[in-house]
Amino acid sequence: MNPTLLRMTAPLRDDFDIPYHDVGPRERTPRIALVAGLHGNELNGVFVLARLAAFLRDLDEGKRPGQRLLERVLIVPAVNVLGVNLLSRVWPFDKIDLNRAFPGLEGGETTQRIAAALLALTRTAYYRVDIHSSNGELEELPQVRLYEPNDDERETACLFGLPAVIERPQNKLFTTTLAHAWRAHGGENFVLQAGMAGDLQTRHCEMLFRSLVAFLDRTGIVEGLTLSDEEEDLHYFGLRQTYALLTNQAGFFVCRVEVGRWVQAGDLVGHIYDGFSGDLKCDVISPVPGLISCVRRQPLLFEGDLLMRIQTPDDSGNDAEALLHAQGQ
Ligand SMILES: [Zn+2]
Repeated sequence: MNPTLLRMTAPLRDDFDIPYHDVGPRERTPRIALVAGLHGNELNGVFVLARLAAFLRDLDEGKRPGQRLLERVLIVPAVNVLGVNLLSRVWPFDKIDLNRAFPGLEGGETTQRIAAALLALTRTAYYRVDIHSSNGELEELPQVRLYEPNDDERETACLFGLPAVIERPQNKLFTTTLAHAWRAHGGENFVLQAGMAGDLQTRHCEMLFRSLVAFLDRTGIVEGLTLSDEEEDLHYFGLRQTYALLTNQAGFFVCRVEVGRWVQAGDLVGHIYDGFSGDLKCDVISPVPGLISCVRRQPLLFEGDLLMRIQTPDDSGNDAEALLHAQGQ
């Protein structure tokens, strides 16, 4: 029987709860807490954490000879448990964004109580990981996001082995996120981004799963694993190394690149068509060289919309303000 984060009642249905996994030696303080599905339509993280829980349970039960789970691990795969059923980003009853409800309130409304219970559970762990996808418009390369990190977090972020570690400024509007609430409790805190909401992108899921297992191995939480040699090429991007490519035209966007690709300045990365006449309005050219970490998948463009984010090898980013564009967090 899995433990429950919170049990809730509803006006006209059975009680329901938010289950989580508590794996490994119970007598120990949890070493890591992994959370996904604060947004119910971000399925990659939900799926990967459920798979990871199954994997760790096998280790814990000795089903994988030579491999062991040494530390206690908490996994909450779907915080917005009702939202996942409905493919809804927000909590379905009152449309509240759970990742704007922290630190929450014990005895408050439902979403406040969920936030408070999740924080109380996860703050005991030293490592904490919150997994998101983008929204339903953009696709994110699997990456670690750091917000005003300390040096330990900068170093540890590389242990995931994901292709990009990206530092972002702490958005002053987002002080009610889980990641922000965690900072008050020390430890090391990470946000992972992978793929796009509303979809299960198996390529991103595999990369995410591998990265989490590698992280658990490198931090001594599991032992005896053979990590795959096909390690991603890891790149670290500081605050001024994110370039947000915005459109100055409305229309239909046809993207010509995938996340994870490196481009040169001047490379063709897409086209914008007039939605009625079908005329090509312009080619989209990358103004900077770098790694494409995010692309627009929903094609309808209004002027000023984000087309893609490019991580630049030097400080030629422009994205101090444009970070408000659809972060999916
Ligand atoms: Zn999210």
